[in-house]
Amino acid sequence: MSETAAVQPLVIPRESHPISRRNISPAALKVLYGLRDAGYQGFLVGGAVRDLLAGLQPKDFDVATDATPEQVRAVFRNCRLIGRRFRLAHVVFGREIIEVATFRANDGGEGEGRETEDDGRLLRDNVYGTIEDDAVRRDFTVNALYYAIGDFSVRDYVGGHADVQARRLRLIGEPERRYREDPVRLLRAVRLAAKLGFEIDPATAAPMAAMAPLLAGAAPARLFDESLKLFLAGHAERSFLGLERHHLLPALLPEAAAALRAHRNGSLRAMVLEGLRNTDARIAAGKPVTPAFLYAVLLWPAYCRELARLQAQGADPVVAQQRAADRVVLHQAQRIALPRRFSLPMQEIWMLQPRFGLRQKKRVQRLLAHPRFRAAYDFLELRAGMAPELAAELRFWREAQSTAAVVD
Ligand code: ATP
Ligand code: MG
Repeated sequence: MSETAAVQPLVIPRESHPISRRNISPAALKVLYGLRDAGYQGFLVGGAVRDLLAGLQPKDFDVATDATPEQVRAVFRNCRLIGRRFRLAHVVFGREIIEVATFRANDGGEGEGRETEDDGRLLRDNVYGTIEDDAVRRDFTVNALYYAIGDFSVRDYVGGHADVQARRLRLIGEPERRYREDPVRLLRAVRLAAKLGFEIDPATAAPMAAMAPLLAGAAPARLFDESLKLFLAGHAERSFLGLERHHLLPALLPEAAAALRAHRNGSLRAMVLEGLRNTDARIAAGKPVTPAFLYAVLLWPAYCRELARLQAQGADPVVAQQRAADRVVLHQAQRIALPRRFSLPMQEIWMLQPRFGLRQKKRVQRLLAHPRFRAAYDFLELRAGMAPELAAELRFWREAQSTAAVVD
């Protein structure tokens, strides 16, 4: 246990906050009561408490406890332990998993005992700690609130409750140091601000642009996961605007950012924003979205630029297309690990675009039957929004589809 002096939390009683057990999943309640009945402390913590206070329904529920993972396992039959360096307990209820983490501290002085985890996060030695330690090692104050099942109160060690009420995202501790510890917090700031509609506190926002290059050191697989949370969670447009505003776009999508900067009339940026708005609308309507289409939108500016460059060098058009698509993927992969099962269909969406210009009967039949036709057509529609000259093409293919549907 760490030697941090016990800090008295601000206790927000049940009547002063809106969190009701009705909005907590029955599985999470079972875990909280199970821990309590076994004599341990158990709190709902993190994103779930934040979302409930902000009036959103959480998508998952995390629990923090003073019980060790082994002790948690002894309480719940449906429990398995995961993680090597830092063990967590997963209590499994059908398809729902409640993650139970023992209070932990980031102990040791800065620079000492540092090591890099698989995912590239720079962490000092993780040791079990007190609830206060557990609170201050979290990222934002609004993510460090603890809901107690005993009296239904919320415990606040870092001023998170006031920040939720002010709709403010604020890092715990010294912002620059927290970004250096883990640069992905830069993206989490933008993402959570977009998701919650919160403002990033000025002191938390100030070093963001200067810290952006540190993202180059983050693990590409982790950045891929984070990119999906930024862009496929219903707030893609706000995420994109936040990345622009805090100068993080070049760190995440270097070539697309460069292409957008170079493109003077702004129609490419308008198209990307429209694509992201469509994605948000689809999610709001419960329709499916795919990383392939998302990345086709995000990387389109990079692709167009590369294609123009190769064509200016006199490359054969078809060869140029394939080469431009491959180069964009190759370069982007150095930053974000985009799996091939998404990058291949993304490239197909691009490569099919010129084929909409060919209208001989046979070719039309073949394109309509292409497994990527629908996605490519949606992409054409997006392009046509910025390019009126594509209107006739779009109409032709809309009609071709309805005729085909009748023939089927
Ligand atoms: P959401 O689930 O909506 O994506 P979240 O805040 O729950 O948001 P998770 O990745 O599920 O995000 O993390 C759960 C909690 O773990 C956070 O609320 C925060 O307290 C802590 N946490 C997550 N990532 C970090 C980080 N990089 N640094 C410090 N604490 C973190
Ligand atoms: Mg979460």
